Amino acid sequence: MTGDDGWDEADDEDEQRAPICACGVTALPAESGSGRFICENPDCDAFGDEV
Ligand SMILES: [Zn+2]
Repeated sequence: MTGDDGWDEADDEDEQRAPICACGVTALPAESGSGRFICENPDCDAFGDEV
């Protein structure tokens, strides 16, 4: 068993997998909670946009 046959790290049960924006900031879940994430970096071109 090498334990290398999956993308299954049981280390993120609190948060769903949050994507990282191109600016390097972790995107936060949109209010609607529909599984979408938006960039919260006011300095980013994609601020408020879905990541
Ligand atoms: Zn961004």
